[in-house]
Amino acid sequence: MSLPTSASAEIGVIGGSGFYSFLDNVTEVEIETPYGPPSDPITLGELGGRRVAFVPRHGRDHRFPPHRIPYRANLWALRSLGVRQVLAPSAVGSLTPEYGPGTLAVPDQLVDRTSARPQTFYDEGAAVHVSFSDPYCPDGRGIALSTARAAEWPPVDGGTLVVIEGPRFSTRAESQWFAGQGWTLVGMTGHPEAVLARELALCYTPLCLVTDLDAGIEEGEGVTMDEVFRVFAENIDRLRPLVADIVAALPRERTCPCANVLDGMKLPITLP
Ligand SMILES: [Zn+2]
Repeated sequence: MSLPTSASAEIGVIGGSGFYSFLDNVTEVEIETPYGPPSDPITLGELGGRRVAFVPRHGRDHRFPPHRIPYRANLWALRSLGVRQVLAPSAVGSLTPEYGPGTLAVPDQLVDRTSARPQTFYDEGAAVHVSFSDPYCPDGRGIALSTARAAEWPPVDGGTLVVIEGPRFSTRAESQWFAGQGWTLVGMTGHPEAVLARELALCYTPLCLVTDLDAGIEEGEGVTMDEVFRVFAENIDRLRPLVADIVAALPRERTCPCANVLDGMKLPITLP
């Protein structure tokens, strides 16, 4: 694939519909990958002096529910544009009563409770086992945390995001079980996004906005979709500039382990 030089980026943002308007000098590129097209054409532009590629995770019209998002195509497309660091804002439920709606969190661990999603690029030809003990980029996390503190939105540092298959929300029993394990957040998109980024030697940093208290720890009805969208909408005007500040602060040269995670491995495919 040959692309004009303007069609490149160093940082990828995978986010929701509230992020369209935040890039300057935008162009759109349609990309095909061995895994089909990404969720939608990718918007390329500038932010804080950096070249950024934005992928609307669910598609512009929100047509992909969490279990149908073309995760592999999204990550592959970003890498093919030159992206090496990914910032991933998302809405999550809280399993911790103290972390109410509007809480910002940068988890440091992940538990996979999904069940039907392709979650590797290395399906055949050779076994490739990437290290995933620490699923997120340590440098990206540090910058997200310090930038959020500077923006006077003190984030929760660390914790475990459990990713469920969805699209339904958890039962009370599931939610109580997750909380009982000490897991702090629950979402539907953080996996396989993070592991696919790792498999392409990309840095991946989650930025979680709590929109609700999950069923098991909430009295009353439990979580509803209306509530999730309402809280997300209330916070998007705060989240957008924070994402921009984090993008601007991400390192220009990577010194974290993410870049070298595939060193010495014999890959059955050629990375873009
Ligand atoms: Zn990294």
